[in-house]
Amino acid sequence: MAKINENFLKLPGGYLFPEIGRRVRAFSAENPPMPLIRLGIGDVTLPLAPAVVEAMAKATAEMGVKETFRGYCEETCGAYDFLRFAIRDSYRARGVDIADDEIFVSDGAKSDCGNIGDIFSVDNVVAVCDPVYPVYVDTNAMAGRAGEYDGEKWTRLIYLPCTAENGFFPALPEGDRVPDLIYICSPNNPTGAAATAEQLKRWVDYANAHDSVILFDSAYEAFITTPGVPHSIFEIPGAKTCAIEFRSFSKTAGFTGNRCAYTVIPKALERGGASLNQLWNRRQGTKFNGVPYVIQRAAEATLTPEGQAQTQEAIAYYLRNAQVIRQGLEKAGLTVYGGVDAPYIWARTPEGVGSWDFFDKLLRQACVVTTPGAGFGPSGEGYIRLTAFGDAAATQEAVERIVKVL
Ligand code: PLP
Repeated sequence: MAKINENFLKLPGGYLFPEIGRRVRAFSAENPPMPLIRLGIGDVTLPLAPAVVEAMAKATAEMGVKETFRGYCEETCGAYDFLRFAIRDSYRARGVDIADDEIFVSDGAKSDCGNIGDIFSVDNVVAVCDPVYPVYVDTNAMAGRAGEYDGEKWTRLIYLPCTAENGFFPALPEGDRVPDLIYICSPNNPTGAAATAEQLKRWVDYANAHDSVILFDSAYEAFITTPGVPHSIFEIPGAKTCAIEFRSFSKTAGFTGNRCAYTVIPKALERGGASLNQLWNRRQGTKFNGVPYVIQRAAEATLTPEGQAQTQEAIAYYLRNAQVIRQGLEKAGLTVYGGVDAPYIWARTPEGVGSWDFFDKLLRQACVVTTPGAGFGPSGEGYIRLTAFGDAAATQEAVERIVKVL
């Protein structure tokens, strides 16, 4: 008899967003007094930049001509040189020297954050921030690295609280349990906090001292506006011997429907005498056949000066929304974090109100969909997350409605 991976059975009732979806559907069926405005799920709403659309059209036309048609991409793990070189140059422009064979192009940072576990033993001790992007936790649970779910936490994971007191950045772990794998996301989903170079340096030094590996998710790096805040972990001295970086075109260039991302694994990163770059190369070469040619051309177009200018406009639009949300919620008397270097606003719920209760209140009274902080981990209780990815007029209206309700 085929035996299933029983770790899947240990996963709690599903991903956060299905529960939000269930509540929203139930409320919609009651004929709400106003149309719903969704500031919940972090999906982009602006169309692709003209330079990207043009590149896709050109590449699509090439696919329809015998001489320029492309089948499987035989270059490194299905990534064309033109894209890897463009990514390498974009790092160089920020003073970070990454070799092109340290860059692995994929269909998403979500896939890579999940799949990276394939190259690590099930025995590793994993540390996650709390609150956390749920993918890190669930994929480790599926792999059997998380232990048992006790209704609030996984028994084998180390949770690193990120609270207002520590500026939403984790302190180094205390006690004897040293994490082998450490997930850090900056700018952070859900808190919107972006780590400083000093904060990251502490973890880089820790990881090098303990032979741990930092899994650094910088899917939102393009939203950083504060000067001096690192866009890449590789801006930190010592990171090349202890860190893997995940990046994505999803939020930087509106590619959530296009699907293209990349992971950087320095050749200097070795554990147990093995090169993690080579292990990942082997893993991707075996399980992945690359991103479509048309999409790789589209991604390349985002890195040209023209594409950069156009995608920056979209980011500025979202950051203006973030400011509208921040200012509105502050006016309503809430304490608000994030939204400066990230498209997420992390707002404290009113005294004594739980995050699901506050979510329900805003849904039912303002017809605005948010995300309850508790869905991101125990330390998310007492917060809600709002996203700045909506339409500007709708965002403005949502904020006005919230202000009225409060
Ligand atoms: N990492 C973080 C922190 C995210 O919030 C998201 C998407 O919401 C992703 C990765 C997923 O990126 P991609 O669309 O490239 O899979």
